Amino acid sequence: MSKKFRVFATSDIGESIDLLRRRGYEVEVYPRPEAPPKSLIIEKVKSGIDGLITTLRDPIDAEVFQAGKETLKVVAQIAVGFDNINRADANRYKIPFTHTADVLTEATAEFAFFMLGVLARKMWTAEHLTRENQWGYWHPYLPFLGDEVTGKTIAVIGTGRIGLALIKKCAGFDMNILCYDPAYQNHEFVKTIQEIKDLSQARGISRDKTWIKYVTLEEALAQADFVSVHVPLLRPGESATPTYHLFNESTLRSMKPTAFLVNTSRGPVVDEAALAKALRENWIAGAALDVYEKEPLPADSPLHDPAIEDRCRLYPHFASAGKITRLSVDPNRGMAGRTVQGLIDVLEGNYGGDVAKMPHVVNKEAFGK
Ligand code: NAD
Repeated sequence: MSKKFRVFATSDIGESIDLLRRRGYEVEVYPRPEAPPKSLIIEKVKSGIDGLITTLRDPIDAEVFQAGKETLKVVAQIAVGFDNINRADANRYKIPFTHTADVLTEATAEFAFFMLGVLARKMWTAEHLTRENQWGYWHPYLPFLGDEVTGKTIAVIGTGRIGLALIKKCAGFDMNILCYDPAYQNHEFVKTIQEIKDLSQARGISRDKTWIKYVTLEEALAQADFVSVHVPLLRPGESATPTYHLFNESTLRSMKPTAFLVNTSRGPVVDEAALAKALRENWIAGAALDVYEKEPLPADSPLHDPAIEDRCRLYPHFASAGKITRLSVDPNRGMAGRTVQGLIDVLEGNYGGDVAKMPHVVNKEAFGK
């Protein structure tokens, strides 16, 4: 490599940093666990770095791109979601940014499924009962019962990568599946899942006949026992079907009072004040969240209300947090590996230097010929 590339990473991404260093890159890593102040990112970009490695905690907008005008060649984000990066600004400054789609799909989908299980079967409450020595007897229905998952109906909101991966897992639990996605419908996938379901029942592996189909949002919410959300955060103006506060007083009220909501997508997709009200007033049976309108979740959030503790599970943006998924240096397995690969592709001019052909670049539209 003739040029020594300079990179600033806003957080440590493990061994993948060494991979860059072994290639001769000069890499500076922000050493603290929390996000660096935006002013520091701007200062580093202004110093003439070629590449910036970001997390979803870093606001990357015109100010940052302006600071890197002429010098910054790529922003490589360790996440699939990129709502923290202003795409229009990146395009205006013609700076490509990359993300880590696919490698976190299964980990995120399985976590969403586990959240659903913990919530429905009251596993958190049941463990507390045991740990706090409140387990006085075995009784057919006391002190409480949970809701089974097997054989129930789930609505999968957003049938992109993670939504489809969740569908595979739900099919294994003989669930009926309602799919909703206004922008992308994978009918071939749905047909195949139905064939697998039919075969499983015909051969006696599954007892009941179950089904999968695309429906409207209204139908999905009205019929589902579980609703799991797998959409990107799209604010009004960013899409014909924005997802900001997709779950609000009106949509929450249209769910069954026995239904559960699971959100591993982005916090602002759910109006948290409305959700806390829905849980307090029993419009729905429960919710499990991995993402929040403000992260970390503020101590005074209405979601911390002890009155809803038994039916509100809260996780720290953890759905992709598997060891291999987060840190593998293999770009086909780990987010860190894929981040670094996206960065290398741009800086070293892979794919004949054609940014529009680079698989991990998001804003290809700014580079088409
Ligand atoms: P994807 O782009 O493959 O799928 C998103 C789907 O949502 C698309 O099919 C799109 O058409 C659909 N969609 C858009 N607007 C919609 C609307 N109004 N209603 C219903 N569907 C709509 O993305 P993905 O890889 O499946 O990831 C989905 C999101 O999950 C990411 O954008 C990210 O924000 C989030 N995520 C969170 C974690 C976590 O750790 N909690 C991990 C990975 C991804």
